Amino acid sequence: MLQAPPVHRYDPRMDYDVIVVGGRPAGASLAARLGARGLRVLIVDRATFPSPPSVPSSPILTPATMALLDDLGVDEAAYHDPHGRMPLFRFAMAEAFETLMRVPEIAGRDYLLGVDRHLLDHLLWTNLSRFERVERRHGFAVTDLLRDGDRVVGIRGSARGAAPIELRARAVIGADGRFSLVARRVGAEVVHADNRHCSTTYFAEWTGVLPVHGQSSSAFVCTDARGLDIIFFALPGGRWSINTHARADRVDIAGDPQRYYLEALQQIPSAWRHLAGAQQITSVLGLKQIANGYRRASGPGWALCGDAVHYKDPIDGQGIYDALLGARLLDSALAAWLAGEPWERAMERYSSELWQATHPMFLSTTGRLGRELYQEPPKIVIRTLLRWLMCDPAYQECFLRVLGRDCPPPRLTSPALIAGAFARGAARDLAAVLGRGRR
Ligand SMILES: Cc1cc2nc3c(=O)[nH]c(=O)nc-3n(C[C@H](O)[C@H](O)[C@H](O)COP(=O)(O)OP(=O)(O)OC[C@H]3O[C@@H](n4cnc5c(N)ncnc54)[C@H](O)[C@@H]3O)c2cc1C
Repeated sequence: MLQAPPVHRYDPRMDYDVIVVGGRPAGASLAARLGARGLRVLIVDRATFPSPPSVPSSPILTPATMALLDDLGVDEAAYHDPHGRMPLFRFAMAEAFETLMRVPEIAGRDYLLGVDRHLLDHLLWTNLSRFERVERRHGFAVTDLLRDGDRVVGIRGSARGAAPIELRARAVIGADGRFSLVARRVGAEVVHADNRHCSTTYFAEWTGVLPVHGQSSSAFVCTDARGLDIIFFALPGGRWSINTHARADRVDIAGDPQRYYLEALQQIPSAWRHLAGAQQITSVLGLKQIANGYRRASGPGWALCGDAVHYKDPIDGQGIYDALLGARLLDSALAAWLAGEPWERAMERYSSELWQATHPMFLSTTGRLGRELYQEPPKIVIRTLLRWLMCDPAYQECFLRVLGRDCPPPRLTSPALIAGAFARGAARDLAAVLGRGRR
């Protein structure tokens, strides 16, 4: 639960200490942390809650993400549905092999959780009512920033149908997502990007999906090893999110995403089989050419948080974790500033801590995109080396711990782990051949 030392240096010329633009994982968690310090905070969002995010997201939470939600006082019981609980992770490759992994226990949980994003975001928004000095305005769109010289000192915006108003604060935070207006208005340039291997993803919700490996709820990834993955995960209430994740340069939706989506699902028979008799219950949503990068994190009077500062491909399911973690780092930098540390020094620390906490995973995700979507290993390699690797219990545990931010990502590509997995896989095959010979 949030326990933060209070910081307060009141400035009577300002309406608020901090204005946060964007009220989902990054913004709402930052406002909660600042509110717990007794700061005067205004948080605005142009959406009204409950609602799904405007940048579509089909969400899966890792144990580490849920642990960060615990810190905020958002009780898992309020967003957990038994159907969304996924203790198993099944992986199938190119119709050549499949394997079942068990999610290891991380931070007291041994499952991934599929959730309703509109519910989770609503819980984060309503959680803010606990903090007397946090004021919330939803349905309020920010259109510009106020400046005093080169320093940002507030926002201009309006509630739907109302006249624009101006509100001032000692700092303005853009937690307004990957297409951040705040970032555009302050000219926050991209300081690091890797868009060599972009994906395009489409998804819809289904019911009546045939059980995956005899378990009604397990995550399931099928890849054709030729640039297309189909990803299933369980959602509350017996629903499934079924996603196509493809190399972006090969996706041509020809103006009809629904047709593209169904054709892509049919390309992988081991995925399509599970949809016999199933029903698609939502329209298809998606994002094309998903960019991966970092923007400059701060400048005079402003800072960015969540996807606004660091955005990446959803394949590793890290976006909400990084948004919540980044908000924690920014909260502590803002508190140090309000307690007297110079703005530039506090924000430099935020930027560097954010980089250290997220960049290894960013490298892992972008590396994985290159290997899994853009390389086309020969069949013989899939049937031997890749099968040995993906079916190896030590490799599987490392993979799932990396996703759970419980193991440094470089370990996943360490020669020792890979060589060991190859050796154990070859030995298993040899033992099977010898066993058959003896029978
Ligand atoms: C296809 C897809 C699948 C994903 N799957 C997962 C997953 O499984 N697990 C996971 O952890 N992450 C996933 N993500 C990533 C995750 O959705 C994001 O990382 C996360 O939502 C970022 O949170 P945020 O608060 O930074 O931004 P957002 O959730 O994008 O929220 C930004 C908010 O800012 C508001 N806003 C924007 N402009 C203005 C304005 N001018 N005035 C007022 N308000 C404004 C918007 O209305 C919005 O509510 C996925 C992303 C995609 C695209």
